[in-house]
Amino acid sequence: MKGSSGGESAAQAAARLRAEIEQHNVRYYVYDDPSVSDAEYDGLMRELQALEAEHPELVTPESPTQRVGAAPVSAFGAVRHAVPMLSLSNAFDEEDVVAFDRRVTDTLRGAGLLGPAQQADYFCELKLDGLAISLRYEDGRLVQAATRGDGQTGEDVTSNIRTIKAIPLRLKGAAPKVLEVRGEVLMNRTDFEKLNQAQAKRDEKVFVNPRNAAAGSLRQLDPRITAKRPLRFFAYGWGEVHGLPGAQGGLFAEASAGAAEASQLPEKSHGAMLDWLASLGLPVNVKHNHRATGAEGLMAFYAKVGAMRAELPYDIDGVVYKVDSLPAQKVLGFVARAPRFALAHKFAAEEATTTLLDIEVQV
Ligand code: NAD
Repeated sequence: MKGSSGGESAAQAAARLRAEIEQHNVRYYVYDDPSVSDAEYDGLMRELQALEAEHPELVTPESPTQRVGAAPVSAFGAVRHAVPMLSLSNAFDEEDVVAFDRRVTDTLRGAGLLGPAQQADYFCELKLDGLAISLRYEDGRLVQAATRGDGQTGEDVTSNIRTIKAIPLRLKGAAPKVLEVRGEVLMNRTDFEKLNQAQAKRDEKVFVNPRNAAAGSLRQLDPRITAKRPLRFFAYGWGEVHGLPGAQGGLFAEASAGAAEASQLPEKSHGAMLDWLASLGLPVNVKHNHRATGAEGLMAFYAKVGAMRAELPYDIDGVVYKVDSLPAQKVLGFVARAPRFALAHKFAAEEATTTLLDIEVQV
C-alpha cells in the first residue's frame, strides 16, 4: 500500500493522510477554495479508509473518515441541527454498487422486509454538485437556514437563503408545525461563467467551478451580495418534521429521529416524501428522479444519466441511490458519517479535473 511504503509505519501514514485531508477540508468547506481536484481528494480518503480497515486500532473519532465536512466559521451564527446532516458513502464502480445492493438485500431479507426472491426498490437522484442546506419552516414560514458544517452544527445563513427566489418563504397548503427541508444550493454553468467574467472584469475573485461559486455566494456576510448571485435550489430530503395536520404524522415518526408523531401514514417511501415536499411548493428534481429495482436497475440509471450529463444545465458529480421504503431505511440505519440505506455513485473525474485546470489557467 502506498500509504505505508518508504519505511513509514501505518500509524505515521494515517497521521500524514489525516493532516493532508484536514487541510483540504478547510480549503474546500471553509474557504470554498480547493487546491486539489475532487478525484485527488477522494484518492487520499480511500487510501486512509483502506489503511484504517487494515488497522482498525488506528481509527479515531477525529479521523476524517468518521466525520462530516468541517467545523462552521464563527463569522456566522451557529445552528445546531435537530437531526444531523450526514454525508454519503461512495461507490466508484459497479462492484461497489453490487456490494451495496447485496448488503441492503441481505439485511432486509433478514428483517423480513423482503421475500427470498424479492429485490430492493430504490429511489435514484442526481448527485447535485452544490452545497447542502437545511431550511427550517415553522407553521409554513421559513424561519432559519443553515449549512451542513460538521454535520452537527452548521452556519446560520438565513438572510442569504431568503434572497434565493426558488426557495419559498411560505409553504403552500397545510404545512406541518415544524419542517426541516434538506437540499442542495447550486449554480447553473452558464450563470457561473457569466459571474466569473463579471468578477474578472472588476478584478474580484473568480471561482474554480460552479460548486465553489455557489458555496462562496451563499456564505457571504452581506446578503445583498448573495442576492445578486444566481443561486438555485433542489430539495432531496428532510430533517426534523412534526405537527403534521391529518394522518400524515406517522410518516415522519418513521423517517426522522427528531420526530415524535405516532399516527400511521398510508405511504411510507422516500419518493412519496419528495412528492409531498413538491406539493408544498418546494423545488424537487422531478424531471430526473427515478425508481429502480436491484443493482441492475441502479446501473441502468447510472448509464442513462452518464450519457446525458453534459446536457444538464448544472454540474453533477454522480448519482445517489436511496432505499425507497422508509421502514427499510430505519432497519438499515447509519454508520458514523453516512446512512447505510443510501449510496453516492460517482462519475469518473476526467471532466471535473479538466474544468478545474481550465479555470486555474484563467486565474
Ligand atoms: P459527498 O459530496 O460525496 O456527498 C454528500 C453530499 O452530497 C450531501 O451533503 C449533499 O450536499 C450532496 N448531494 C447532492 N445531491 C444529493 C442528493 N440527491 N441526495 C443527497 N445528497 C445529495 O460528500 P461530502 O462529505 O459533502 O464531500 C465529500 C466530497 O467533496 C469528496 O468526495 C470530494 O469530492 C469533495 N471534496 C473535495 C475537496 C477538495 O479539496 N477538492 C475537499 C473536501 C471534499
